[in-house]
Amino acid sequence: MRLPDRVTLCEVGPRDGLQNEPANVPTADKIRLIEALVEAGIRRMEATSFVAPKWIPNLADAGEVLAGLRRRPGVTYAALVPNLRGLERALAAKVDEVVIFLSASETHSRKNINKSLAEALEASGEVAGRAKHAGLRLKGAISTCFGCPYEGEVDPRVVVRIATALVDMGVDEVGISDTTGMANPRQVDALVSRVAERVPVAKLSLHFHDTRGTALANVLAGLQAGVTIFDGSIGGLGGCPYAKGATGNVATEDLVHMLHEMGIETGTDLPKLIECARLAQQLVGRPLEAHVGRAGPVNHGGGGAACS
Ligand code: MG
Repeated sequence: MRLPDRVTLCEVGPRDGLQNEPANVPTADKIRLIEALVEAGIRRMEATSFVAPKWIPNLADAGEVLAGLRRRPGVTYAALVPNLRGLERALAAKVDEVVIFLSASETHSRKNINKSLAEALEASGEVAGRAKHAGLRLKGAISTCFGCPYEGEVDPRVVVRIATALVDMGVDEVGISDTTGMANPRQVDALVSRVAERVPVAKLSLHFHDTRGTALANVLAGLQAGVTIFDGSIGGLGGCPYAKGATGNVATEDLVHMLHEMGIETGTDLPKLIECARLAQQLVGRPLEAHVGRAGPVNHGGGGAACS
């Protein structure tokens, strides 16, 4: 197998996770979770979102979260920014990285951000220009790249077109997202290969959902296609907004477990991440359904119960 020696993890639990949880977590607890994740070795994190509070009330305290954090040098604290107004708030809060986001599906784009694809590209261009001018790291995230819950199949050429437009806007990273867990490994290989014809593979990151149990298989396909940046959400925080009770984001600790067992470095400490997943579970007040938190890490010394 051809695999990288090391990958970069981006923790999205505090943003993508908490945004979709029914419980609203107090600001001080969000800060506690973010600091624990940094303590566990996370060096890049979507800490919050500057989307208008009326759309995402759970993250209305974005500015307070960033202001209350003890920032550790070497950690990139990112936030989602939908428009210039959000960017002003993000700049005031001194974020390190701005994430602009678009959808590869026209219907999803209208439902999610109330903009057509063309309008979303134009709005992203404005935010990108200002964010780069301010000297911030910039990521462009594309949702529903592997399928849309409204439209079904998504044309890979649309993903390539948006990815290329984002690079032209000056993004440092293009995030390819499987927003509702529709991707399969063969599709991941095919899409990454197509996008990589236009965007250096080192700039690509992948965001998978485990809605139907395929997230880690898709990560493996991404690794083999040369991708070295992956999103994870601690404890699998953030259910699937389209199906009650369904799992959403791939759990960071499950991802880290697999990578470490394969000899791929992440710079994180698995037992500490499992502790973070327990904390996340406490904060949202519901059991999180990820794997490694329940099973524990592999015991290489042998022993333990045998299952058949
Ligand atoms: Mg997600």
